[in-house]
Amino acid sequence: MKAKRIALSVLALALAAIGTAAFAQNVKITPLGTHPGELCDRDRAMIFEDPTGVRILYDAGQSVMGANDPRLGTVHVVLLSHAHTDHIGDRKIAGLNMGTCDKPETVSALPNSTTAEIAAAKNASLIMIRNMAFFLGKKIENIRGKPTGNCAEPGGAIAAVQAAPCLAPVELGGSKIVKAAGAANGVEIITVYASHDSTLTRDLLTDAQKKSLEADNVSVTLGAPSGYVVKFTNGLRVYLTGDTGLHGEMRTVVREFHRVNLAVINMGTNAIQSDAAAYAINELVRPASVILSHPNEGVTSGGVIRANTRAKAFIDQVKGRPVYLGISGRTLEFDGSGTCMAGGCY
Ligand SMILES: [Zn+2]
Ligand SMILES: [Zn+2]
Repeated sequence: MKAKRIALSVLALALAAIGTAAFAQNVKITPLGTHPGELCDRDRAMIFEDPTGVRILYDAGQSVMGANDPRLGTVHVVLLSHAHTDHIGDRKIAGLNMGTCDKPETVSALPNSTTAEIAAAKNASLIMIRNMAFFLGKKIENIRGKPTGNCAEPGGAIAAVQAAPCLAPVELGGSKIVKAAGAANGVEIITVYASHDSTLTRDLLTDAQKKSLEADNVSVTLGAPSGYVVKFTNGLRVYLTGDTGLHGEMRTVVREFHRVNLAVINMGTNAIQSDAAAYAINELVRPASVILSHPNEGVTSGGVIRANTRAKAFIDQVKGRPVYLGISGRTLEFDGSGTCMAGGCY
């Protein structure tokens, strides 16, 4: 009887050890903004690192230095929610802390965009809506002097490390898996609906194309805008809203079907207002934790949230779950249940 009890407690200890090991498998999330230690107007870019080592760049935008930004490190996957300039990156920063948090100073990233520059330099897989992938594929070809092919998917997964940048085009609802060499499981990336637009600035077009469109003051739209659901190997399921107004799929597809437990929400006057954003989090998505990004205002000063910001109004209305600011250069770590485990949790 006693031996059996000892055996059981050994088993319990072993299970606890396995549990702890699994617990330590956090996803690391690092925002790359214009001003280290702050959350500023233009900040969108984020690096997600799965415990298996897969590294994903979400919406490079205007707050990075382009391909040579030392903060990027290895990038296996490039995601882009839609073609607007502040996401595709028609401009970039020349260095950190240029201009103010409210009005960062940027320089041109034409003719290629920060997204194309980075994907080309990092041999990344571009997982995004088809028309954007093809457009960026051409930009990458212009940079490298070689056509950009589609990503191979041996065994149904894209290998994290690629010899050249490649395209993994999807439509809304489409999904791709990216797997590190030797890993048991891959990271699943799914595009989801966003109530927005995906028109490209004429500045990124060829002169001939620009000319033909100028007469009518129109531009081209690169397919549907999207958000993403990213399912990491530790169980973390992140909803990247993209720019979007409120929509019912936040409840049905994102929460009920995908059961996300962390939301990265884009704020801003052309995305979602504070009260609508709080409703989306409290009533529709209901994640365990939230990260606030894309503020379109300087949110912090000395790393501390400013009063009278839309971000503050949003946070004050969110109930029952923590909201973390996407502070540039601060790495937050999340376990599989969407709980912040390190890097500034409170
Ligand atoms: Zn937009
Ligand atoms: Zn935007």
